[in-house]
Amino acid sequence: MGNDKGTVKHIAEERIGILLDIAENFYKGKEPRGVDEALAKKYIGLAMQIRKHYKIKVKDARFDTICKKCHTLLIPGITCTVRILGKEHAALYKCIRCGTEKRTIFRGKRIAATQNSR
Ligand SMILES: [Zn+2]
Repeated sequence: MGNDKGTVKHIAEERIGILLDIAENFYKGKEPRGVDEALAKKYIGLAMQIRKHYKIKVKDARFDTICKKCHTLLIPGITCTVRILGKEHAALYKCIRCGTEKRTIFRGKRIAATQNSR
């Protein structure tokens, strides 16, 4: 029945993606009710609970940009500021809600692409 377990995890990951979509929309004010960070956090909390419960590795990149301290989804220009650290091939995300900084390492190619674009 190993297959069943895989399916459950797949569904769990899909749910996390949907929850993050809703949370993102709440931050961006795309939900009919407009911007609601409290609700957005609720959805992020749910996504984190699902991940913990199923012990899955979430591939959704947005999951890596959740503030560890206040659980805000870090969206550049909305809930965080981004500074590119060229020498370190990294981006520094700073949560504008609690000030926690998060460093994300870039792949070399991606940084090169940004520098070359006009
Ligand atoms: Zn934060």
